Amino acid sequence: MIRFALAGNPNCGKTTLFNSLTGSTAHVGNWPGVTVDKREGVYKKCAEPIQVIDLPGIYSLSPYTPEEVIARNYVLDEKPDCVINIVDATNLERNLYLSTQIMEIDVPMVIALNMMDAVEKQGDKIDAKALENKLGVPVVAISALKGAGLAELMEAAYKACKAGRSGKTVLENGALAHLITDVKIALSGQGVDNPLFHAVKLAEEDELEVKAHKDTVKMVEEFKETFKDDTFGDDFEALIADARYKYISENFSSVVTKKNKEKFASTKSDKADKVLTHKIWGIPIFLVVLFAIFHLTFSEDFLYLGKIFGFSSLEELGVDTEAFGGQLLACFYDGAVFSPGVIINNLWNNIIVEYAFGWLVNIIAESGMSVWAIGLLNDGIIEGLKAVLSFLPPILVLFLFFSILEDSGYMARIAFILDRMFRKFGLSGRAFLPMIMGFGCSVPAMINTRTLADDKERAATIRVIPFFSCGAKLPILTAVAGAIVAYFGVGNADLITYGMYLLGIVSAILAVLFMRNTTLKGETPPFIMELPAYHAPQFKNLMIHLWDKAKHFLKKAFTIIVASTIVIWVLMHFDFTWHFLEDEAVDKSILAQISMLFQPIFTPLGFGSQLNANGWVFVLAAVSGLIAKENVIATFGVLAAILGGVIEANAEGVGEVARMIDATGIGIPGLIAFIAFNMTTIPCFAAVGTAKAELMNNKSYHGTLIFWIVSSFIVAAAVYTIGSWWWTAFIWAVAIAITAYLVVLYNKRANAKLNDHE
Ligand code: GDP
Ligand code: MG
Repeated sequence: MIRFALAGNPNCGKTTLFNSLTGSTAHVGNWPGVTVDKREGVYKKCAEPIQVIDLPGIYSLSPYTPEEVIARNYVLDEKPDCVINIVDATNLERNLYLSTQIMEIDVPMVIALNMMDAVEKQGDKIDAKALENKLGVPVVAISALKGAGLAELMEAAYKACKAGRSGKTVLENGALAHLITDVKIALSGQGVDNPLFHAVKLAEEDELEVKAHKDTVKMVEEFKETFKDDTFGDDFEALIADARYKYISENFSSVVTKKNKEKFASTKSDKADKVLTHKIWGIPIFLVVLFAIFHLTFSEDFLYLGKIFGFSSLEELGVDTEAFGGQLLACFYDGAVFSPGVIINNLWNNIIVEYAFGWLVNIIAESGMSVWAIGLLNDGIIEGLKAVLSFLPPILVLFLFFSILEDSGYMARIAFILDRMFRKFGLSGRAFLPMIMGFGCSVPAMINTRTLADDKERAATIRVIPFFSCGAKLPILTAVAGAIVAYFGVGNADLITYGMYLLGIVSAILAVLFMRNTTLKGETPPFIMELPAYHAPQFKNLMIHLWDKAKHFLKKAFTIIVASTIVIWVLMHFDFTWHFLEDEAVDKSILAQISMLFQPIFTPLGFGSQLNANGWVFVLAAVSGLIAKENVIATFGVLAAILGGVIEANAEGVGEVARMIDATGIGIPGLIAFIAFNMTTIPCFAAVGTAKAELMNNKSYHGTLIFWIVSSFIVAAAVYTIGSWWWTAFIWAVAIAITAYLVVLYNKRANAKLNDHE
């Protein structure tokens, strides 16, 4: 069967086009050896059936990522009958960079000028015929989304595949063109396929080519000795990339007519980028955006209106908050307007969860079961489930905001900014993209590190991904922040959660920099990601993401979490001689006793032996979190229910969990350290398993476990000591400075030694 391959940048609409071409015949598998999706299907509306293959999205044909290698090898070795190069017309200049490389291969090719509907909507025009004449390959304007132009595209591709085509390059001026021609002739003489493509790549001194053509590379090296470019010296890779872009921008201006007539007027995206990716303001703006998100999700004083205007509370207004109407009102307002996230949270918890579970508890109470069975059902299962389920709204709201940032293209900018800041020190923007995914869940984020070419960069990235607080860790943050606000009256929940997320990000960056300069040194390949134009996120996409997240969370709650809470409840009610214990005697139980044994280890972190009689609950909660992070709060829920009758409450009207936390006598520094510990320590079972599978060998897996334990103790100890005695901040600062200095010194020595040897 005839085969057409779809190639293009990520997000240019490849999958959308693939789906409309192949419909129900589509089939998703894997590329051999890697887990990059491979989609195949059949297009039936041409003279003969055509197999369509969706290649991975790529920015160039360099061999830096598995995606690039797959796409390159497919086109070179499998020789499709035609390559359909999809180009995002709203971003023509950037997308044509890949086109100029595919053109160099001896393969029939058609350019699909996609997203023409969006171009027209902007009021711009692109002359497809002029582009076709300039490039010398057929160009067809389409809209994959609206299904326009697809038949013409396939007709053109069919014609092109019958006609055949030999490679052409846009690098046709100057000394470089001479070199390329000479190398091409030499390669042809050796009987190499696609001589032009290989000649250009060899001139770039592309890793794979240099290996494959050891003799011919001498021609390039000899040429280099006589040639020096003013800007790029003998960095031919940069020189060639620059020549491609120059060619594109010279030929591009006559093809596109912008509505506002100014030929080089920058697009809205470019204008936004002037501000959002600004050298100095880029990061502060990101911090403000992030804070706005936490404010909208967690603040009980929306836009600080309550503070500014001093509204009266519901009590002062004489509203009966016991009645249903009052209860409903209290979800939206009490002395201040709540943020949307808090309102959704209140509606869910105060109305839905409370009534549903209240009704269940009543049924159980009246069922005439034995006391211990009622205890297990109520305190073990229901309280644990309730504690976890109550966090569904903030997880979804926060996740929604993060999805919007990602879909709009903003997160890619943040990766770009960080790349600019840290590349010299071994952290690339490419590594930051999977890290950001860690805000959702560490498991897919770790899998996503496969886009990193350097194994050591990959290992370092996998290690710090859990520091990007995932959805399951959010309940720990929210519950503890809630307890801090309720009991100590300091700060707002939004500020505390925001601060903890930042702490995670900063710890991650410091840890990566440290590893990349000591144990995990290695290359940092160039980050050639072109920034996609800003898109308004699509509602449907967002909802699909959210629904997946909710499903995953609920499934976990009703399986792993319920199972864990049952085990915990049982082990809390038996001592080592298997005698059933009443609630009053739980401190004799198996779990309590074991937890107390380990308590001293956590004393330097502020939640160890210095606490009251019930202080061991923190140890138990942290350990149960190794199974799944939701367990930390589920365990708190179970313990609070069991201990509820035992502890003395210091305040009315606060949740059971907050009351139990307060009764342990813990202070704010200890609580914050507890969050920090959970954020940076060994993640859940699923993430540990993924890390093990993704790391290259057992040695680096064991190193990773040790890394998590050590870093969580360091971060939590720093938080606790600085929180308790502010001046210890100086000691920590000096310790970090000395470490950094020693690393730099050591590296200098090592380099000097290396040079001596040469
Ligand atoms: P891929 O990464 O290349 O597979 O790109 P996708 O097919 O996933 O598309 C990326 C985004 O572009 C999606 O939000 C699509 O809905 C959108 N998109 C794709 N084709 C078109 C088009 O012709 N017009 C417009 N306006 N949007 C499109
Ligand atoms: Mg795709």
